[in-house]
Amino acid sequence: MSKVLIVGAGGVGGVVAHKCAMNPEIFTEILLASRTVSRCEKIQAEIRELHGREIKVAALDAMDVPATVKLLKEYQPALLINVALPYQDLVLMDACLEAGVPYLDTANYEPPDEAKFEYSWQWAYQDRFKEAGLMALLGSGFDPGVTNVYCAYAQQELFDEIHTVDILDCNGGDHGHAFATNFNPEINIREITQKGKYWEKGEWVEIEPMSQSMMFDFPGVGPRKAYLLYHEELESLCQNIKGLERIRFWMTFGDEYITHLRVLQNVGMTGIEPIEFQGQQIVPIQFLKALLPDPSSLAENYTGKTSIGCLIEGVKDGKPKKVFIYNICDHAECYKEVRAQAVSYTTGVPAVTGAIMMLTGQWKGAGVFNMEQFDAKPFLAEVSKQGLPFEVREL
Ligand code: NDP
Repeated sequence: MSKVLIVGAGGVGGVVAHKCAMNPEIFTEILLASRTVSRCEKIQAEIRELHGREIKVAALDAMDVPATVKLLKEYQPALLINVALPYQDLVLMDACLEAGVPYLDTANYEPPDEAKFEYSWQWAYQDRFKEAGLMALLGSGFDPGVTNVYCAYAQQELFDEIHTVDILDCNGGDHGHAFATNFNPEINIREITQKGKYWEKGEWVEIEPMSQSMMFDFPGVGPRKAYLLYHEELESLCQNIKGLERIRFWMTFGDEYITHLRVLQNVGMTGIEPIEFQGQQIVPIQFLKALLPDPSSLAENYTGKTSIGCLIEGVKDGKPKKVFIYNICDHAECYKEVRAQAVSYTTGVPAVTGAIMMLTGQWKGAGVFNMEQFDAKPFLAEVSKQGLPFEVREL
């Protein structure tokens, strides 16, 4: 019997609410709270129609810690699932500590006024969660999230030594728009326009944004050009995968996307500093977000597949070994099941799986944890059951 509070009713929040509703034996009561309550109500109506279940909804500005604490104390959930934006991570962790509620999220904290994400801010909560006897699970999406668990699985089951990891993320789908982002545009564009960075032999190597690329043949999609980006899971995996020599992250982008992004950058539309416009302060990237399609609205006509995985090289029984561990997910199938596109689905399903690990006690502990710190096997069994099966291809 577990009550759960989901914060954030965007693309990912919708998937999390649907999937919790589809697992009534674990999530006995669901409250979806977000800044704009009408978005919660839309998801509530879809869940009623598709799964015949009632969920509760509430208006909440997560930046208001006393309001969140009040809601947590009144509702008394067994877990708070944060699928609002990375800006809300720390305030929601504060509220969880004050109300004595475990915490889970899918993306690490990012300060609004600086396009920079790293775990230091959230790892700094380690002692407070430990002392409170509460668990916080960080980055339970696909990447970070499932990719961390693929690495843990490789370390546990497939290799004696892991030397290199390349995380490869491909969206081979088509949404029919000239330019749109698959998750929150502001967070997405901030991630892509910052410098690329990877870890090699104990050092971070920085490169100019989108300046390194490679072709990779993605199962289910085909050959695509992937660009080296900095991604948060590198920061924890380089500490938790023993003997690692290099880890990098790559994401595919079509030429059309890159051209649009370059123009937007060149004219200053991706800037995060406020500018004065007709007597008002506006942040260019926030204005751009208002113009772009809402990521959840892309779902209905999305076709094609995502293909995301970890290319891992190392040694097993004295012999060199190379594997690609991956999942393929179909946009149209996701829409049929939970009215979402595959990028939201591949984030929301692992969030619900992480929640199941915590609520059933299969993953437990007091403190702040990254995904690869737990046993990979029960998570992979559950995430497969929930809609994201995986394959291991020997290369
Ligand atoms: P959306 O922009 O679609 O949704 C975010 C939701 O959070 C919106 O409903 C928004 O409300 C709500 N929100 C924003 N601020 C607040 C606030 N102060 N209080 C309460 N609610 C708030 O984003 P996505 O659903 O695409 O992404 C959700 C999260 O998932 C992000 O953190 C993103 O980085 C992460 N993510 C992780 C991935 C992974 O693989 N690990 C991949 C993709 C995304 P409103 O409707 O009022 O704007």
